[in-house]
Amino acid sequence: MFVTTPKFIQALFPSLIWRKETLDKNIWLTFDDGPSPHVTSWILSILKKENIKATFFLIGQKIEEFPELVGAIVKDGHTIANHSYSHKNGWLTNKEKYLEDIERCQALMPNNKLFRPPYGKITKAQIAVLKEKYKIILWDVLSYDFKQNTNPKIVQENIIKNTSAGSIIVMHNNQMSFKNLQPILEKTIQQLKIEGYNFSATW
Ligand SMILES: [Zn+2]
Repeated sequence: MFVTTPKFIQALFPSLIWRKETLDKNIWLTFDDGPSPHVTSWILSILKKENIKATFFLIGQKIEEFPELVGAIVKDGHTIANHSYSHKNGWLTNKEKYLEDIERCQALMPNNKLFRPPYGKITKAQIAVLKEKYKIILWDVLSYDFKQNTNPKIVQENIIKNTSAGSIIVMHNNQMSFKNLQPILEKTIQQLKIEGYNFSATW
């Protein structure tokens, strides 16, 4: 498994956004798959304490279940974005069903312009349609916080060692990843600050 997305894969899909151009040593923290009870509020408290902004790629189904958590994310000044309604795998879903699922989430955040494909799995035909409406955001640094046989130290190293100016870093806003994220999120942010990075949630 790759922590950083290899350049040859990035080159195969030039209309996807893997990392950002930046002159100011900016990086983009992203949290996928929320909102989630307890986890979202905890992440928000850490971001507030560290006074930084992040982007939350939310699942429509969970937005409907926990609207007050979405309100809390927005109130704190973070960016919310579309991660589909029911987290379908694009490689296993026909184009019409896939697009329908994304629009169902989009209806819950009509001003949004960002989409991240669940699992990073999306076909060229799906991209061709979606890129007309959305910036399709992938990542260059995957923390692997969701892996159950890893440990928090490895997750922290995955992030610290692979981040560079312009990086888009993926972490998860769900119960499954929390045991790996909870011990390291604040320390990791502090270490990235020491290394001179700024945190952006503007796309
Ligand atoms: Zn996801």
